[in-house]
Amino acid sequence: MGSSKVNILLLYTGGTIGMIKDFNSGALRAFDFETLLDKIPELQLLDCHIKTISFEDPIDSSNMNPDYWIKIANIIGSHYEMFDGFVVLHGSDTMSYTASALSFMLEGLQKPVVFTGSQLPIGDLRTDAKENLITSIQIAALQVENKPVIQEVSLYFEYKLYRANRTTKINAEHFEAFQSPNYPELIHSGVHLKVNQDYIFRPDPFQEFKVCTTLDTNVAILKLFPGISKALVQNIMRTPNLKGVILETFGAGNCTTESWFSNLLEKAITKGIHIVNITQCVGGSVMMGHYETSNQLKRIGVISGKDLTTEAAITKLMWLLGQNKDPERFKNYFETAVRGEMS
Ligand code: ASP
Repeated sequence: MGSSKVNILLLYTGGTIGMIKDFNSGALRAFDFETLLDKIPELQLLDCHIKTISFEDPIDSSNMNPDYWIKIANIIGSHYEMFDGFVVLHGSDTMSYTASALSFMLEGLQKPVVFTGSQLPIGDLRTDAKENLITSIQIAALQVENKPVIQEVSLYFEYKLYRANRTTKINAEHFEAFQSPNYPELIHSGVHLKVNQDYIFRPDPFQEFKVCTTLDTNVAILKLFPGISKALVQNIMRTPNLKGVILETFGAGNCTTESWFSNLLEKAITKGIHIVNITQCVGGSVMMGHYETSNQLKRIGVISGKDLTTEAAITKLMWLLGQNKDPERFKNYFETAVRGEMS
């Protein structure tokens, strides 16, 4: 590793960016990372040292799970002091989940962690991988007076850097695959990198860096729809060991006023299951009590997920449950922003 140059750790977990077409089936599958680097000789031109690490068996991100999140967090943790910035190559399908989870798991983070990937493999003539990868590395290496510009977990795709826990994948084929509906982009990449200073997360400089690896996966996401049956809700609430539910409601946090519904939720809350209200809408926030159709949720102690994305809500729930926080104050903890994930 070099002395004056910035040191970047590039971690390849899998995803389209490093995939090739299977000769027999024609399906895309992950392939060797070393070959990926050979495809981008431009990396040598960047003004930083890049060390690469790859998952032994790179995966399609549809196979991602919390054990892999812990693996990524531990890799960053064990290299934290030696590197100035981290770039994680990841499939786009579940990138927002992983990056949101990491934003909670990396406590006291003071260095950039940039997630990126691509819609087309790096070897494809029209690939979006090169720009995504090269700019992500540049952003991870960006410093002013020897201090990193980005000090949070972020996601770079198609000329925009977002706060990771504000993102969601919105398109399966456009190069612009992600959106951050409730928070402005942190950097726009054009001729210059335009940094939106006012929106960047400023961590507490005195908080020590720590990797949190306890996540509780006894959680569920329940998306409401007109006509949802009592049996379905009942079965979900009866899931053995269930500790928390993300309830995806309508509009500003509204749901049916039928009494069986709020009775089931109230019973679950009495049993100690935490229920979080987030909206099915892509943008905007839950406002419990704004309409009659959300009053009962507020009354029985449902937690407001405000303007959280589903990805941030479910990963924050796993993380907070893993911390064994005082159940009486769980609602307060959840409703407080810790990594700029909610407004
Ligand atoms: N299925 C791929 C994955 O998420 C898609 C991508 O990489 O964009 O791993």
